[in-house]
Amino acid sequence: MMNAMDTKRLTTDDAARGAAIIASGGLLGIPTETVYGLGANGLDSAAVAAIFAAKGRPQDNPLILHIPSADWLERYCQDISPAAYDLARRFWPGPLTIILKRKPIVPNTVTAGLDTVGMRCPDCAVTRAIIAAANVPVAAPSGNTSGRPSPTTAEAMLEDMDGKIDAIVDAGPCTVGVESTIVDLTTTPPRLLRPGGVTLEELRNVLGEVAVDEAVLRLMSTNEHPRAPGMKYRHYAPKAPVTVVSGDAQGTARYISAHLQPGDGVICFSDYVNFFSGFSTQAIGPADDPQEHARHIFEALRAFDHEAVKRIWAQSPDATGLGLAVTNRLNKAAGFHIISL
Ligand code: AMP
Ligand code: MG
Repeated sequence: MMNAMDTKRLTTDDAARGAAIIASGGLLGIPTETVYGLGANGLDSAAVAAIFAAKGRPQDNPLILHIPSADWLERYCQDISPAAYDLARRFWPGPLTIILKRKPIVPNTVTAGLDTVGMRCPDCAVTRAIIAAANVPVAAPSGNTSGRPSPTTAEAMLEDMDGKIDAIVDAGPCTVGVESTIVDLTTTPPRLLRPGGVTLEELRNVLGEVAVDEAVLRLMSTNEHPRAPGMKYRHYAPKAPVTVVSGDAQGTARYISAHLQPGDGVICFSDYVNFFSGFSTQAIGPADDPQEHARHIFEALRAFDHEAVKRIWAQSPDATGLGLAVTNRLNKAAGFHIISL
């Protein structure tokens, strides 16, 4: 058992204090454009082990190394293809994690024993300043308790991590709102392991052919071995069971309103809230605004944990563009319990 600590609140002016916490082996809540992360010195196995303990994260689910620029790739990776630099030039700093072959300096605790490592340069100035000042890569997963929805505000991260981390840097709400896109460049063709803020279409514009891993589209059973070990775990789940309804927005609104029972809650488009009057709703933005859906999906899932709803219904966005990332998180939260109209 860890002793509860006094978790300090830092601001975007406190990069030096954040860097000191990282350099001394502590745990720091870091803002990024995607979600808040739980960061530690990625070269310090003991600090990295503390991340897993604070989250209750399974040991076989690797972390991402965050760096301040593509110049640092060679410190931690080998056999770096030109495609990696093409992606970095086009999308970094930004919501893209690139899987490359690791160098031995990267501890097994970070990679869960894989010979590859996920690398990302976040689009958040204070976090890049902290990493640069600490002069070590920051290993970080999302800052939630394992299995819960990812935090997109400092307050949401503190719900899970207050007393378990040394400090958190509050930079306001995340602008993207879903975790980074993960693309594996160690396979031919490159493979999308997780959809995120950089879309599949954008990746294909740079890389040409990109395969989509099965785990993006369906539930992996516990005896399967996906490329990203974390992909087999139940994820993003609120306490109440979730049912996703996919189809055109009118149709899904009608279907859900016809099936609602007392105590149910609905994740819906803001232009369809009136279909669910008398029920608890979480609006994720207008039906035609995928960026808003991404920004609000995790808050919507978390919000229902504060009310004792019995079941959660969700109107599903289209799975194109940024919608592939949003529907992936929703479907995982629902354990792939999806009704297609
Ligand atoms: P989180 O940010 O909490 O979603 O955790 C990091 C994600 O990156 C997990 O889904 C990991 O499985 C994935 N990841 C990290 N390193 C690798 C790697 N070397 N190969 C495949 N996936 C990885
Ligand atoms: Mg996570």
